Amino acid sequence: MPTLIQTAAQASARGVRARARRNRRLRPVRPSRADELWYKAALLAVTGELKARAQRELLPLLQSLEPLYRPAADSITAHDRASTPGPAAQIIRTRVQALRQQFGIEGAAQRLAQAATARAAQSTDARLADSVRRSIGIDIGGFLTRNTAMQQVMDAATRANIGLIKSLPEQYFDTIAERLTAGIDAGLRYEDLAGQLQSLGDVTDHRAKLIARDQTSKMNGAMTMLRQTSLGISRYVWQTAEDERVRTEHAALDGQEFEWDTPPATGNPGEPVNCRCVAVPVLDLDDSGGDGEDGGDDGSSGLTLGGAVNTGLAAAAIGRYFGEWASAYDGFNPDQPRDEHGKWTEAGGASLSAAAKSVKPGCALVKHPAGSFDAKDVAKATGHQLDGYRAIADTHAMQHTLKKHGTAHEASRGQKQITPDDFGRLPSILSTSEENISAIGKTVIGRDAIGFDKQMDGWNFRAVMEVRTGRKELALVSLYTIGKAKK
Ligand SMILES: [Zn+2]
Repeated sequence: MPTLIQTAAQASARGVRARARRNRRLRPVRPSRADELWYKAALLAVTGELKARAQRELLPLLQSLEPLYRPAADSITAHDRASTPGPAAQIIRTRVQALRQQFGIEGAAQRLAQAATARAAQSTDARLADSVRRSIGIDIGGFLTRNTAMQQVMDAATRANIGLIKSLPEQYFDTIAERLTAGIDAGLRYEDLAGQLQSLGDVTDHRAKLIARDQTSKMNGAMTMLRQTSLGISRYVWQTAEDERVRTEHAALDGQEFEWDTPPATGNPGEPVNCRCVAVPVLDLDDSGGDGEDGGDDGSSGLTLGGAVNTGLAAAAIGRYFGEWASAYDGFNPDQPRDEHGKWTEAGGASLSAAAKSVKPGCALVKHPAGSFDAKDVAKATGHQLDGYRAIADTHAMQHTLKKHGTAHEASRGQKQITPDDFGRLPSILSTSEENISAIGKTVIGRDAIGFDKQMDGWNFRAVMEVRTGRKELALVSLYTIGKAKK
């Protein structure tokens, strides 16, 4: 049976002339930049309101409570101190929780997500129709109706985006509560906390931009996959953005042909977070079918395909692009090394575990490379300029950590008892995303400390690293968990 696109081509004079041509490539359907900018502006309006409200409600309170802050002590972080928050911290926590509950976003999230999805559908269809028209001169616009399959993809996209929009205030207030109470109990001053509130606002803006950019691309990818496969365009050629930010694995796919059904390990273009690659549709107009069903009547029945729907195609597109949307933006780093299956690997982890196993009191100070971190993310999250710094973990820090957080006592307070193997997680923890990096005060000898947080195996791990400016080192101070991961 001819595919819909072959049927359409047969019905058009110019299409018939083009018919004999196989493997014709069309212009790829790129995510709409205008849609992305519209979505970004809408989400930044939400985060702007969030920040304004937090500043208005919390800054005066923080200032008036300053006499009640815990005095600075010789401890590294709030975590290493008494585990019950002090009175000022408790007041702030309660206030932030109230703000979180008062911030009504349900209705706005729904409207915004629906509008973003409708825009994406319109742009994707218009661009696909345009691409086909330019290539073979036929207009498929009439076939691209909002059928059940398309509606299913749009519903999935809307649901995913409602969740992401709602996560903006949730994550913002949760992080504020955690950072401010920790800061108050770590003996920071009002000015420090006001600065932290400011930088957490920047982090939220950054997340909003990431959502706008990546979801615009995800919706385009899912809808393109659905539309092309239902038209009978089963193959595409991978095309990268062809600049220096393209991931190595994706650069290797550039120019190769794939079936929508059987993509490479990394997924179809636009499927991995922040992927800017596109699919160049391959058009096969030569219907060499001749299987007896290729009669005139079948031609017209093929034309109804746009209305009668293969819902399996929609399910495949939804699963690929919106399956794990919720966690996709946590711990993302495009530069992190991956194995041949596209899974993130933890370079150097094994040697760190081995080193930690050999530490004992009084052992020699040996420095081990602890992985890499993104200096740009650190700068954005903390203001520290660490270009050219290397991350290390020395044997004394490992020993301190195991002594402090590697005992049964740690487990009795609901935290993970840190083992030598946990040091193998450092490369992965250091490559966490920008929103999980934060300035967390000073170390005993007055060096700036930076926290790198990452959820792994059900725990919230935190690596505390200190900035050693002279030696250009970002060195491990402590490794512990801050409770269990929420999911
Ligand atoms: Zn890519």
